[in-house]
Amino acid sequence: MIPLSTHHCQDTDWKKALATAIRQPSELLRAVGLSTEQLPEPIDDAADFPLRIPRAYVERMRHGDPADPLLRQVLALRRERETPAGYSLDPVGDGPATRRPGLLQKYHGRALIVTTGACPIHCRYCFRRHFPYGEARAGADDWRDTLAHIAADASISEVILSGGDPLSLDTPRLRKLGEGLRDIPHIRRLRIHSRMPVVLPQRIDAEFLAWLAELPWRTVMVIHANHANEIDGTVARSLRQIQAAGTTLLNQAVLLQGVNDSVAALADLGENLFEAGVLPYYLHLLDHVQGAAHFAVDDACAHELMERLRRQLPGYLVPRLVREQAGAPYKQLV
Ligand SMILES: *Cc1c(COP(=O)(O)O)cnc(C)c1O
Ligand code: SF4
Repeated sequence: MIPLSTHHCQDTDWKKALATAIRQPSELLRAVGLSTEQLPEPIDDAADFPLRIPRAYVERMRHGDPADPLLRQVLALRRERETPAGYSLDPVGDGPATRRPGLLQKYHGRALIVTTGACPIHCRYCFRRHFPYGEARAGADDWRDTLAHIAADASISEVILSGGDPLSLDTPRLRKLGEGLRDIPHIRRLRIHSRMPVVLPQRIDAEFLAWLAELPWRTVMVIHANHANEIDGTVARSLRQIQAAGTTLLNQAVLLQGVNDSVAALADLGENLFEAGVLPYYLHLLDHVQGAAHFAVDDACAHELMERLRRQLPGYLVPRLVREQAGAPYKQLV
């Protein structure tokens, strides 16, 4: 038998894992050994924002626990159809910050590229769950217009690859973008916002790590984990590999009712992140996007959690509690 090269093998692995992600609530419940009667409220079998959960993520859920914090992040509920006052389709003002399709600029020196609309997982609280990705993708012309815009604005020193999840693009596509950015002298840092190392660690394969290591700038990767149980051994290993490629690792989490709205949950998350080489960066208050109201934690409760967290953890493991405010010049500390 002829052995496959490692790269080929890993590549098919992560794409296959994405292709076989769970898309039906009934299938998800079966996988974790639950029936609808065991859940406290009705689920949604036909949500506009469909389910997408790789099996590797489902395996980290506690079997038979209707209150599992990972399950809660991804299971569509009927309640998402409610339209409470104050919840909108574009709560963070992405529309007005769009410089050209797929390029957002809200803050000094930083430009954010919406590289793709695709995510390896669909988080029910996502502030971009209604984002018009069809119109907003930057890669349709091989990044030409996006790169030209960045090249023409010398005040941009940091480029952020976001989405969707930029690691949904395969590495040759990322390499193409990196090559275009390399030629722009005023870029000093490249940042990648991705939930992939947490959701589908197989994506962090040899080809991706090689690309990361060969980039000419210091790179930062901001991952997204909300609960300690999301970080298992495989995730921790992929994070250490990213760090070994010369990348600084930070985490952003969202404060979510029923997921991580306790001091114990936030402290465990900080500890597990640190063990994997990641520092907590932001803890976001929920963006008030339609469909996510059941995740909201009020400001007073959030402040109390932070106060108690500070009494328990070293300062570098306490994330900054922030709120995204449309039109503001930076993320607002609360
Ligand atoms: C959140 C965000 C950033 C990054 O903000 P930092 O405070 O530097 O982490 C940059 N651009 C946009 C459009 C953002 O939404
Ligand atoms: S990974 Fe991020 S962008 Fe994708 S659905 Fe989850 S919160 Fe939204």
